[in-house]
Amino acid sequence: MTETIIRLTDLRSDARYTTHSPQIPAQVRAATGHLEDALARPLHDLRISVTDRCNFRCVYCMPKDVFDKDYAFLPQSSLLSFEEIERAARLFVEHGVEKLRLTGGEPLLRKHIERLVEMLARLRTPSGKPLDITLTTNGSLLARRAQSLKDAGLTRVTVSLDSLDDTIFRQMNDVDFPVANVLEGIAEAQRVSLGPVKVNMVVKRGTNDSDIVPMARHFHGSGVVLRFIEYMDVGTSNGWRMNEVMPSANVIARLNEALPVEPLEPNYPGETAQRWQYRDGGGEVGVISSVTRAFCGTCSRARLSTEGKLYLCLFASAGYDLRTLLRNGASDAQISTVIGDIWHGRTDRYSALRTAATGLPEDAPPKVEMSYIGG
Ligand code: SAM
Ligand code: SF4
Ligand code: SF4
Repeated sequence: MTETIIRLTDLRSDARYTTHSPQIPAQVRAATGHLEDALARPLHDLRISVTDRCNFRCVYCMPKDVFDKDYAFLPQSSLLSFEEIERAARLFVEHGVEKLRLTGGEPLLRKHIERLVEMLARLRTPSGKPLDITLTTNGSLLARRAQSLKDAGLTRVTVSLDSLDDTIFRQMNDVDFPVANVLEGIAEAQRVSLGPVKVNMVVKRGTNDSDIVPMARHFHGSGVVLRFIEYMDVGTSNGWRMNEVMPSANVIARLNEALPVEPLEPNYPGETAQRWQYRDGGGEVGVISSVTRAFCGTCSRARLSTEGKLYLCLFASAGYDLRTLLRNGASDAQISTVIGDIWHGRTDRYSALRTAATGLPEDAPPKVEMSYIGG
């Protein structure tokens, strides 16, 4: 058995876990509605983390021995306010962002999140279109909130659910949360038309891979799009090992034996999931192969952390402090110019460079935790 290494330090105080502090530019450039990075990848998608807190302790994301009662979550004053988030989002939209995803931590723990959704739903692209506003949630509070989120203008939700087996699910969320309540949240999201509802299942070999076919059978024909995600080496605290990754090719093979599937064309270039459909008309299913089939070549996503740092990659160790600019009197045009310059210089492609079996090199710079940067 391979040994699991879990680093217990709080990486936010690690000197290598740096923050870039962009200066207010002397000259400004107007946004053109289209930005490309150094590898010609456009900016389309902004993920906004609204809290670093969560009521789950999923073993692959916020393991209890790191995120324990002594863990120092960010104080309220560090968090971007809704007004700051809306302002930043508007500047990103002027640069071509058409899709916003609220995430965290658990986004439904942020008080009055519906108010933020309402503010974001009023934004328009340069050509006057409304944005696609989605939210990723563990589903624990969704049954109660789906209607108010829909009313506020949320377009869709993605719910994370790793198992239908109550024992396995309770072990994976590590707070003894029952499957039934998440299923209720999914049903309510469908009822209020927050759809098509997507369900994300992180597959950890030896932990929940026995649930691939039961999950597929459960959601087959329901209108829910189930997606299997490869367990990733995000952050530095989950003790990731390659041998716990279940490659998507194996997932599809297993699925195909029980419920035959065929590939579908992507909805748009750069889509993270590879789409499949059941041959019997039972709907769509997908795989997200972040480890075995990197999609960095078309990655058009930026991430805004809970405290307003801009990250150019899920696996980054450094972020660009936009909060200071938002709070120190910089004008919209100045902040917009900074965002443009940062994206222009982007060369990140962590997954493409990752060698499959490397695991966690001891000398590699630490990566931010997913609960902080937003999944
Ligand atoms: N709390 C919300 C949730 O669980 O949906 C939103 C934040 S969570 C960080 C976003 C997504 O990241 C979830 O679907 C979760 O399963 C996924 N995730 C977290 N850690 C992961 C890992 N190590 N590998 C793959 N996916 C991971
Ligand atoms: Fe919380 Fe989501 Fe991370 Fe699970 S995956 S610990 S629900 S943030
Ligand atoms: Fe995008 Fe980074 Fe993921 Fe590559 S590794 S797809 S650049 S977020």
